[in-house]
Amino acid sequence: MFKRRLFTPGPTPVPESVMLRMAEPMIHHRNPEFTEILTRVNRNLQYLFQTAGPVLTLTCSGTGGVESTFVSLFSPGDTVIAVNGGKFGERWVAMPRVFGLNAVEVKVAWGSAPQPAEILAALRAHPEAKAVYLTHSETSTGAATDVRALAALIREHSQALVCVDGITAIGAHEFRFDEWGIDVCVTGSQKGLMIPPGLAFVALSARAVERVRTSTMPRFYLDLRRALAAYEKNDTPWTPAASLIIGVDAALEMIRTEGIEQVWRRHKRMATAVRAGVEALGLKLFSRDASYAVTPVWLPAGVEWKPFNALLKNTYGITVAGGQDEYTGKIFRISHLGYYDELDMVTVIAAVERSLHDCGWKCEPGAGVRAVQRSFMESAS
Ligand SMILES: *Cc1c(COP(=O)(O)O)cnc(C)c1O
Repeated sequence: MFKRRLFTPGPTPVPESVMLRMAEPMIHHRNPEFTEILTRVNRNLQYLFQTAGPVLTLTCSGTGGVESTFVSLFSPGDTVIAVNGGKFGERWVAMPRVFGLNAVEVKVAWGSAPQPAEILAALRAHPEAKAVYLTHSETSTGAATDVRALAALIREHSQALVCVDGITAIGAHEFRFDEWGIDVCVTGSQKGLMIPPGLAFVALSARAVERVRTSTMPRFYLDLRRALAAYEKNDTPWTPAASLIIGVDAALEMIRTEGIEQVWRRHKRMATAVRAGVEALGLKLFSRDASYAVTPVWLPAGVEWKPFNALLKNTYGITVAGGQDEYTGKIFRISHLGYYDELDMVTVIAAVERSLHDCGWKCEPGAGVRAVQRSFMESAS
């Protein structure tokens, strides 16, 4: 028997109950039955983001969700500040340039989060900036940004909108859209929402909705003005990925039942345990400002990524993520985002330990698993 287990920060495992809902016969998206589902999804998305404002569901991946904000909130020539501390931040600098926006880059070392002074300096140098884009959890590096503190700082010193890539943060980190004064937050379906790829969710503040009304950027499919108009009627402007919306209905129901604060606590506990586990195996963590969604780890000396990953995948059935760009072959990333419990963390650390051992790395059998168990026992008390 061979059992596969997925530990990547998107796609993430889909709960069985969600898969069963998505397997039901197709219904038409203009049926009252579907309107009822979308109405409930809209309400539960507000709970997920902790907002009383609109959260739009778009049929595209997370990147499309962010693109919808660049093309719907600004006008050609506008300045936006974007933090680049990894693969995704890099994308939020490149993308607005394609649309004729003036993107000011705040470059941060991989594995670190932007500091208040760096954001302040960019705001002082660019008082004309219309927005600041932050990546809450930079999935390529495992660095988490203190969005709450930076949002307060940006609001205090400017009129710029606070825009957040929350694609691996939503459902893992505490996030309070209204209370923290966030203007835009985007997430995707295949991350903390535990369903397959194909949907993006975009939360907007009243200030952001106002910008949507005045933006002169050319756009059509990803036009948030159309999406907002349809949202008012619990509808979508185009044919939505209806089966995914049915899936997210079931997933949001699970999140509501567990309680969003408990979901955040669970992710913190799992991240803490996984970190203790890899450190007990003698490995070093890549990032200090640690995300609760993903843990990147340096491969130890003498252990090559290719054979290590092949063992994990083909012998132990575990899929983790590798490093990107200059960290390809140097780090690997263990995800704990979404549909996981404590014993899943025991499993992934056990598999890492076995694969390291098979690659010749010396560690005491069970050392990683023991540290994971201890971490859970201590955080439970
Ligand atoms: C996955 C991810 C994205 C990109 O989302 P796609 O769904 O692949 O388009 C953007 N930002 C972060 C932080 C991500 O983890």
